[in-house]
Amino acid sequence: MIERISSKSEVRAAIAEARKEGKTVGFVPTMGALHEGHLSLVRAACDRADVVVVSIFVNPTQFAPGEDFENYPREVDADLALLSADGVEIVFTPSVGEMYGAGAQVSVDPGPLAMRWEGEARPGHFGGAATIVAKLINVVRPDLAFFGEKDYQQLRVVTRMADDLDLGVRIVGCPIVRDHSGLALSSRNAYLSAEEYSWALALPAALQAATAALRRGEWDARALEAIMATTVARESGGAVTLDYAAVVHAVTLEPASTLDAPARAIIAGRAGATRLIDNCALEPALPGRD
Ligand code: AMP
Repeated sequence: MIERISSKSEVRAAIAEARKEGKTVGFVPTMGALHEGHLSLVRAACDRADVVVVSIFVNPTQFAPGEDFENYPREVDADLALLSADGVEIVFTPSVGEMYGAGAQVSVDPGPLAMRWEGEARPGHFGGAATIVAKLINVVRPDLAFFGEKDYQQLRVVTRMADDLDLGVRIVGCPIVRDHSGLALSSRNAYLSAEEYSWALALPAALQAATAALRRGEWDARALEAIMATTVARESGGAVTLDYAAVVHAVTLEPASTLDAPARAIIAGRAGATRLIDNCALEPALPGRD
């Protein structure tokens, strides 16, 4: 039976009960408006933990000024229906006041990993995201917490934070779930008109073009970035404005020069008013390397 809980103390009590029975706890933090991407994390959690806790909290502190905090889709009833079908035990739906008491002022500094890319485009975003993840992890105290590779930089920041702050949780990254056309699922896709949706497909097309060029032997990171940018311009007829299309080291997120270490292609841009991000692994097929 799914239990919806909105207070921190009640969540702690419910989890303490499960712990008494020796159960392991898996945690999936979300902002709701759930789709198959979120549900893939939930299923991974159900596979690997006895009790699964999902949080739904649209966290104001990770939205930069002028972003879509007010308009962000909120569909808690539909979300609960999806989660009960998936066998989740506890859904934590705190209010902003429950998570941030009056006078709250201490936050997490997410460090250098958060400075480039999304951190540059969305000032304050990772400080807010890391802080709420740390707080939720401190409430739930899970064994495992599941994050999507869709938000690759967030996954790296959270993994680093869990290690550096000794949060005592193992961070598990899960693959990106895409729709039938290859667009990475996102709660923000609901904002897209049919025309904007067709422009948005330029992002996965750019990642595919980079992957294909790498397979053909193009190992130069700047050349792959140029291929991504021209693909976006061509496929969207110039309608998508790029924030970045970069090839980065998969762990440090620093710009990669050549592809001899694990790398990631990361891309962000706007289709109409909607900002979208996507990424993929870039692994050259080396003889003798699995
Ligand atoms: P959000 O509700 O956007 O904060 O996302 C909650 C979690 O779901 C994050 O760990 C995201 O990376 C993950 N997520 C969102 N979209 C996808 C997707 N298409 N595939 C896999 N994970 C996703």
